[in-house]
Amino acid sequence: MNFNKKKLLVLGLVLALLIGMIAVPRGEADVLSEGMQTVEAASEDRAKYMFLFIGDGMAHVQVNAAQVFTGNSKPGEIKPGKINFLDFPITGVATTQDSTSFCPDSASTATSIAGGVKTHSGVIGLTQDKKNKVETIAETAKKNGKKVGIISSVTLNHATPAAFYANVESRGSYYEIGKQMADSGFDYFAGGSLGARKDKSGDKKDLYDVMKEKGYKVTETKADFERINAKTGKVYAVAERLQDSGSMPYSIDQNKNDISLANFVDKGIEVLDNDKGFFMMVESGKIDWACHANDAATTAREVLGFADAIQVAIDFYNKHPEETLILITGDHETGGLTIGQSTTGYETAFEMLRNQKMSFTEMDNLIKAELEKKPNLTFEEMKPLIRNWTSLIFPSQANNSIEYSLGEHEEMTLVLTDYEVNLIKNAFEKTKAIHNAGKPPEDMASQENYILYGGYEPLSVTLTHILNNKSGVGWTSYSHTGVPVAVYAIGPTAETYGGFYDNTDIYHKMMKSFGYK
Ligand SMILES: [Zn+2]
Repeated sequence: MNFNKKKLLVLGLVLALLIGMIAVPRGEADVLSEGMQTVEAASEDRAKYMFLFIGDGMAHVQVNAAQVFTGNSKPGEIKPGKINFLDFPITGVATTQDSTSFCPDSASTATSIAGGVKTHSGVIGLTQDKKNKVETIAETAKKNGKKVGIISSVTLNHATPAAFYANVESRGSYYEIGKQMADSGFDYFAGGSLGARKDKSGDKKDLYDVMKEKGYKVTETKADFERINAKTGKVYAVAERLQDSGSMPYSIDQNKNDISLANFVDKGIEVLDNDKGFFMMVESGKIDWACHANDAATTAREVLGFADAIQVAIDFYNKHPEETLILITGDHETGGLTIGQSTTGYETAFEMLRNQKMSFTEMDNLIKAELEKKPNLTFEEMKPLIRNWTSLIFPSQANNSIEYSLGEHEEMTLVLTDYEVNLIKNAFEKTKAIHNAGKPPEDMASQENYILYGGYEPLSVTLTHILNNKSGVGWTSYSHTGVPVAVYAIGPTAETYGGFYDNTDIYHKMMKSFGYK
């Protein structure tokens, strides 16, 4: 034992004695019950209104990326941008593993948050043995007379929203989940459309009709949406313009005529507000999709769109601060997103990301349209389009140093290196070959091609990778990862959400916040 260790040991003994002198007279039980009293005292202060915002694929780093995206990246003036919910007084951290994996999926994690149990990846609303149905916080709230709203930017029978009302062994059973949605009796559904709206066999009813038969008013236009009010009754409001897989358009692709997630929250409050209060779950489902595709600009703008929706709840909180609890969390992280990566070392230049004009999904649509017009499109013809979409500059285009100057970031420019040009050219040729053959070539499943493209359109994923890397953004995966998520809380009982705990505890804490436990 060296001197330092001895010193530490002595110090430890002295500390232990001091703690013992304080704790022993009161006894262990006293100390424990005092801790419990704190929780109980807090839970007497109950929530009448609860908002639960879930960013799919959103761990703290996605939020931080949005802060850097809107902040100042200039060396000497570095400052993160403001994100409203980061001002909440309480922050907790929740682990996300499910019964199958440390890299869980949305079905199991949303089941843990909604119903307090661990289950397998892909399972919704059932216990680990798949034998017992889980009653969710939303269902308990409904039974206790509160109104319930479920909003998602993706389809309403997708895993996260489904976990609040459905019980199925497979998240892919979209038609069955849709029927359970109609049976839920919840008061307000809004956002995207429905997966498998018309069953594959074609002999089953359109799920919109199933909803209508169960008493829901289904609106599909902005004009009809705007006519919804507190007297409308049970509602399912679908965005007028849908993008991929029946989802709302990405924030980066939305225009002023689109119904935003914030609009859906605002209308939800109008429909749900009543004397007994409400529970509203709002999912931003495409943070996950943008992260799967390793598209940082789309991810950051999606988080900002989510913050706009959260602002509507904050405005409501400001009118009813004694009664309104707002929780923001994620179900898991997606993409292994990080700030900093190998080629940029200690530098970041997120201002480059602001030059990306559309999501990878819109780029895919435009690439497809170009190749449809001209199947033998050349790389030279593609270059101006790439510059227009991403602001990436090919060396042959870089004849004016002012237009790509990034001020203090002398080493970081939007001008592509020869290595990057080659990556883009190879990806373009792959994309062209896939499009013209009508199917992916056999080598697309090779290890090299998976690492490069992850099953995405080779050209768009290469463009976002290069733009991300030039900005100092790194990705480690096209899938979910096992890092914990943050929980931000404001309002009555918010203090019970601080600390480090499991995602199943979010359910137990919410039950206490409503006074059901
Ligand atoms: Zn995902």
